[in-house]
Amino acid sequence: MDGSLEIGRVFGIPVRLHFTFLLVIPLFAWIIGSQIGLTVDLIEGIFDIPIDRTIITQQYIPYLLGALVALSLFFCVFVHELAHSLIARAKGIKINSITLIIFGGVASMEETLPDPKVELPMALAGPLTSLGLGILSFILVYVVDAFVTSAPIAGVLVYGFGYLALLNVLLFGFNLLPAFPMDGGRVLRAWLAKRMPLHQATRIASDIGRGFAILFGIVGLLSFNFLLIIIAFFIYVGAGQESSMVTTNFLLQDVSVGEIMSTDLRVVEPTMPLHEVIRLMYSTKHLGFPVVDRGELIGIIALADIHRTGEIDREAMQVRDVMSRQPVTTLPPTASVTEALKMMTMQNIGRIPVVEDGQLVGIVTRTDILTVLELKEMN
Ligand SMILES: [Zn+2]
Repeated sequence: MDGSLEIGRVFGIPVRLHFTFLLVIPLFAWIIGSQIGLTVDLIEGIFDIPIDRTIITQQYIPYLLGALVALSLFFCVFVHELAHSLIARAKGIKINSITLIIFGGVASMEETLPDPKVELPMALAGPLTSLGLGILSFILVYVVDAFVTSAPIAGVLVYGFGYLALLNVLLFGFNLLPAFPMDGGRVLRAWLAKRMPLHQATRIASDIGRGFAILFGIVGLLSFNFLLIIIAFFIYVGAGQESSMVTTNFLLQDVSVGEIMSTDLRVVEPTMPLHEVIRLMYSTKHLGFPVVDRGELIGIIALADIHRTGEIDREAMQVRDVMSRQPVTTLPPTASVTEALKMMTMQNIGRIPVVEDGQLVGIVTRTDILTVLELKEMN
């Protein structure tokens, strides 16, 4: 994720801090600090413990306490993410990093298709950890009340732990809402995936997730709750992205590049003038060709490469002046189509030459893959 900084490693997992996180801490500190009268009353009522306000209500103390509560909350969020990650790693999934961003944490995992048997415990681990932290904070409130003798100090500690107890229980409940890709939505998907193909389970879970996102968005707008609006946005986008990713990977998992590549190869020579290449594109309807010099693949030329030249310069130019050169990304015919699609997305290219024993045997394009996907989606 861009805009984030690595701050350390825990259990060998890189922990990153997103810049939005630095904005949210002062915001939270201010929100918590300015509502302190309200929350002290609330916590006093819930725990049935009188809170001494001597220190709490002094000039800047509410905001300082707000900052401490906010930082502790994000530490709890981090422990929640860590729980997901450690369970995932125990089940053999590689964890790239944990990033703390504006509304919480995101663990980045290397996994193309989730296994419901792994996903269920993995998704539950986070909320259960939050519940555990909530219970721990609850207990600490009563420990402080019983053993701290100074009333003003006890007041501060009861307030802090009480607040954390409530927030962690809230995190537990909120994360368990079946709003995919939130934890509860993942639990739902894992449950559905035991009863139907994975991509269908994902689609249903993601539709429900988007329904929740719209609901959160409306509630957020009506109550001017900015955080809820941001969460709604991330859920909506995330649900759609993950659903299409899973569908693609699921439907294409057994398809190899060799099965779908075009073998009626049109190649061009490095000395071919550009206007001839354009003519060839018109007549073949292909928007890119491998460039072959004396039987050897030396590059690839696509419409985008030609577009980068000025119209006047183009007249005098040849293929070798604009083509993408070595190392040309190639794949063997045995490679999976999902691998090809991943490479195309990462390198922003539309076609990959297929090479076997140093010999160019075909080409696979993004359009080929999308056509296969469309055919597979029908049944
Ligand atoms: Zn979680």
